[in-house]
Amino acid sequence: VRIPRRLLVTGGAGFIGANFVHHWCDRYPNDRIVVLDALTYAGNQANLKDLEGRENFRFVQGNICDRALIDELLYTENLNTIAHFAAESHVDRSILAPDAFIQTNVVGTLTLLEAFKKRWQTLNQATTSSEHPVFLHVSTDEVYGSLTPDAPAFTETTPYAPNSPYSASKAGSDHLVRAYYHTYGLPTIITNCSNNYGPYHFPEKLIPLMCINILMGKPLPVYGDGQNVRDWLYVGDHCAALDVVIHKGEPGQTYNIGGNNEVKNIDLVTTLCQLMDEADIKLPVRPANELITFVKDRLGHDRRYAINATKIKTELGWSPSVTVEEGLRQTVEWYLNNRDWWEPLLSPEYQAYYQKVYAS
Ligand code: NAD
Repeated sequence: VRIPRRLLVTGGAGFIGANFVHHWCDRYPNDRIVVLDALTYAGNQANLKDLEGRENFRFVQGNICDRALIDELLYTENLNTIAHFAAESHVDRSILAPDAFIQTNVVGTLTLLEAFKKRWQTLNQATTSSEHPVFLHVSTDEVYGSLTPDAPAFTETTPYAPNSPYSASKAGSDHLVRAYYHTYGLPTIITNCSNNYGPYHFPEKLIPLMCINILMGKPLPVYGDGQNVRDWLYVGDHCAALDVVIHKGEPGQTYNIGGNNEVKNIDLVTTLCQLMDEADIKLPVRPANELITFVKDRLGHDRRYAINATKIKTELGWSPSVTVEEGLRQTVEWYLNNRDWWEPLLSPEYQAYYQKVYAS
């Protein structure tokens, strides 16, 4: 019989966190889920709207750097698992202003590890405990740096070589998580995943940005020559992988997660234009690819990422279920059907950020 888990989900009001919370609540309604989220510009309580009032679900607005609050939640809610998503997550913002990335991604992760260490020691002393505490650290393939066109995909033993302030801060947090396993024996697991896409993705990210700009008839900014390659995974498949890792992953291990879907940015944007053209809606500009505009490249732009996910497939039996064609179609439909979700996010703050990034 499965013993219900009691999870703290940090960053649960963000893109992947919200998809994960939905996945978990649907699958394990007897588990307790406490979401801790600071509701930064990227956090949105509307992402969890349908769970409000549900038994076993609680939302707490707060910061992962607030040790007293984390201690209180871990003890009063009797939690045994942390699924750590909270982060500053956008590379372009890290280039403009890196400080918040160090604070949340590095200091925040350290704060959670310290709190979990104390909690774990208490759980270990409880003789009746048959629970298996887990600290799951959700990280990115960007910590491995950039690949040349013919280089083999990243494995779990690829040396770290982060190139942006974002990936450097995630690498720092990964190293801390690893160190807490080796130094204190804390049951930590790290996952490094490729680019996600799907519902609740904040408008600044490539796929929603293109969908929204097509709907508004605005230029589609493509960095440099558009030949940069990313490895795309549908967010639901990422959540299913994290589910498997929490249940079957081995403490101290790292698992790479990816969909084996390498796509050039320009090809991705062209596909999104085609999907929009095919939709039964009125578009300001059709064909939508007339809106494609090449802009000055991102500083330090990594050329290619690709994930080798053999380990999680062979050791834990996970594999992705959604093809990139199907996933992109579903995602485009989601943005078409959820205008009332994304329209309020195009705030004056967002517009000011947008101007800065795509000014030249
Ligand atoms: P996101 O930016 O959409 O969400 C981040 C969430 O964290 C937001 O809800 C925000 O309010 C919250 N948050 C930020 N700072 C906080 C703080 N100090 N305290 C509490 N909450 C805070 O990010 P995402 O795309 O959902 O990414 C989630 C995690 O997955 C991140 O750790 C990211 O590095 C990792 N990841 C993302 C991708 C991707 O393609 N999006 C791929 C691999 C790994």
